[in-house]
Amino acid sequence: MRRARPTRAAENRVARRRFLLTASAGLCAALRRSTRAAPAVFGEEEVSAERFRFRDGVQTRTLVARVLIEAADGGVLLESRDQRYWVVQPDELLERRAADAPFAYFDAKSLGAALQREAAEAGVRPPFDVVATRRYVICTNAGSRYAEWCGALFERLMAGFTTHWRSRVLRLHRPPAPLPAIVLADRSEFDRYAETLVGRLDPNVHGFYSPVTNRMVLYDLTASPNEPPARSWADITRKLAADPFNISTVVHEATHQIAFNSGMHRRLADTPPWLVEGMAMYFETPDLNSRNGWRTIGRPNPWRLRPFLAAARRGRILPLEDFVTAQEVFADPQTAPLAYAQAWALTYFLIKTARNDMLRYLRTLSRYAPLIERSDEQKRKDFTAAFGTDFAALQRSFLAYMSKLAMR
Ligand SMILES: [Zn+2]
Repeated sequence: MRRARPTRAAENRVARRRFLLTASAGLCAALRRSTRAAPAVFGEEEVSAERFRFRDGVQTRTLVARVLIEAADGGVLLESRDQRYWVVQPDELLERRAADAPFAYFDAKSLGAALQREAAEAGVRPPFDVVATRRYVICTNAGSRYAEWCGALFERLMAGFTTHWRSRVLRLHRPPAPLPAIVLADRSEFDRYAETLVGRLDPNVHGFYSPVTNRMVLYDLTASPNEPPARSWADITRKLAADPFNISTVVHEATHQIAFNSGMHRRLADTPPWLVEGMAMYFETPDLNSRNGWRTIGRPNPWRLRPFLAAARRGRILPLEDFVTAQEVFADPQTAPLAYAQAWALTYFLIKTARNDMLRYLRTLSRYAPLIERSDEQKRKDFTAAFGTDFAALQRSFLAYMSKLAMR
């Protein structure tokens, strides 16, 4: 079975419950200012910071944050210096006052310390290592070698992603701060950690990215109770190559994180799942002939293509018109595998055959604001503005193209 990735779906459920509902209760209805929400980069521009004290469940938190959204009733969406988002309702807010200095993200060292504290709070087994690469900070109890291997893959992916999407239409940027990742020693550690963050995970989920916390969470996929740990990078690659989905998992989640931190998507915006997942899958096709297991972007993915075509032949795929707004099919474990396959196929088709339209569509989506729900009608309009209104014709060329691809 393919490693279904209800990851994002599970995250969505959490985010939706906690955030979209929150939003409809007033946060988005009465925006006083929705400005700095997901700034591109605030390189030169100074952003003010405030010190907040608020109730978070049973505990009280005090943190320095910037305000992303402020509702008329006093509810706020915050981002703290460790890149986490917080929704604070008026009745949870105990105190807020100006901070001494403008807002700045933690540097790599402080972020590493914050991740260690979080891991300890979540009951992860120490000791922790912190591995910092140019653009990542990885906290791990899997040993630093595996984390270094992951870091090198993340860096290659970020470089590849940036180059692939370089365009005057869609202006992406480097993440404004080092990206946080947590790599756990084994499956049971991963399950325990996930439970504190997003709830119980499906056994087929092998990693996730959380838009709320901006953390990517993975575990050592080479760890096995009956085998000695991987000794070298080559050893790690060899062990991971035993199952092509291993490397896909890592690349998939890392792509989500890059897309959400480079200005392609905005965290907590109502971006259609097919596009978010399709983008991650477009990058994930493993390359088992490569020394590092991953080298190329946008290769056809036979593990997605085959089930997609089989379903298409039996008339079991969703019509495009419905698919471009679909949510639930990605969350339901029964329908998720096919929904993901269809999302990969559609993304692949549009990037390969209508790249400029895709860029314009991505630019539109990148402007969706956090916590604001878009209606299906609005989403469909955004899609047709880029790709035309004739869904039936588009579907025909889509299916023809994908069938031809299978014969190559
Ligand atoms: Zn995903």
